[in-house]
Amino acid sequence: MATINSNYLKLKAGYLFPEIARRVNAYAEANPDAKIIRLGIGDVTEPLPEACRTAMTLAVQDMGDRASFKGYGPEQGYAWLREKIAAHDFQARGCAIDASEIFISDGSKCDCGNILDIFGHDNAIAVTDPVYPVYVDTNVMAGNTGEMNDKGEYGGLVYLPISAENDFVAEIPSEKVDLIYLCFPNNPTGATATKEYLKAWVDYAKAHGSIIFFDAAYEAFITDPELPHSIYEIEGARDCAIEFRSFSKNAGFTGTRCALTVVPKTLTAKASDGSDVELWKLWNRRQSTKFNGVSYIVQRGAEAVYSEAGQAQIKALIGFYMENAKIIREQLTAAGLAVYGGINAPYVWVKTPNGLSSWDFFDKLLQTVNVVGTPGSGFGAAGEGYFRISAFNSRENVEEAMKRILDKLK
Ligand SMILES: *Cc1c(COP(=O)(O)O)cnc(C)c1O
Repeated sequence: MATINSNYLKLKAGYLFPEIARRVNAYAEANPDAKIIRLGIGDVTEPLPEACRTAMTLAVQDMGDRASFKGYGPEQGYAWLREKIAAHDFQARGCAIDASEIFISDGSKCDCGNILDIFGHDNAIAVTDPVYPVYVDTNVMAGNTGEMNDKGEYGGLVYLPISAENDFVAEIPSEKVDLIYLCFPNNPTGATATKEYLKAWVDYAKAHGSIIFFDAAYEAFITDPELPHSIYEIEGARDCAIEFRSFSKNAGFTGTRCALTVVPKTLTAKASDGSDVELWKLWNRRQSTKFNGVSYIVQRGAEAVYSEAGQAQIKALIGFYMENAKIIREQLTAAGLAVYGGINAPYVWVKTPNGLSSWDFFDKLLQTVNVVGTPGSGFGAAGEGYFRISAFNSRENVEEAMKRILDKLK
């Protein structure tokens, strides 16, 4: 008889986004005339930059000509793309990252989950609370956790609470953990990390032989010139950190799919016999076996992000979303709410008023102003009492949603 991976049965049923959809659909059915504005999803809304579309169109033409046709590409990604990433995203910021240390993939979400393939099951793993749910659920699936308790926490994980009290940056734990997930600028809170803060983590990781998984999906949204965009801006990070990046949010590739993971060749972890093994070799082996590369057409589209026109276009795109974030911040503040984030990240994190629970505030916004956001409690127990509003939307929708909130909620 075939059996299943029983770890999947530990996963929380009826997860966040299905529950949001259920409540929104029920409301829409009962109120067919309501004009619902969705500021809940973490997906982009604006079209792909022209430079990317042009490059992809040309790449399609390449595929139609025997001489320029491409079959399987390198599993790691084409060198012309990796070299541009290394030069522009890392070396230009003083990070000693070589093109050979970059792996192109079809998404950071998959890479964040797949990376667990090359790690043992006996690691102590730390996540912040609230957190991007992918980090937690992939550890559950991999069998790295116990069962979930009443608070929604999985046994075996170390939860590092973040809230307004610690400016949404977790305290460095006193206990030893082996794997640490950090996401800056942060989804869902919009919080950022200073170089000093990341240095403290790098020092911790080096002292304990830990590995940091650094998710920089939102680095392009950083407006403060003092903030680091990459963990490799911190001395010593090459010896303790893997970085995940994506074209999803900076260039609108959520539906096009292209991302990258950096595994420095200096990074090692222990084998069961106590020897040090290079993680680059394991990840290269994993990708070469289980992955066959990103489409040539899409990689050409990603390459165009680094052209002069592409850079100007993604700057405008990010500027557009950040203006939305500014409007959301200002209007919600005017409505008397305490708001966080939204300055170096496309998410505004709101304290629910009058001690309302995250879901009660969700229902209130839905029913009184027909605006949908994301309950903070869906990102972890410590997200209770908070609410996420996304800046990924049209200007018209953002302005209309904020007007309704100011008119009715103030
Ligand atoms: C959107 C997002 C990503 C990017 O995921 P892709 O699979 O590359 O689209 C990664 N991490 C976080 C926290 C995100 O919000």
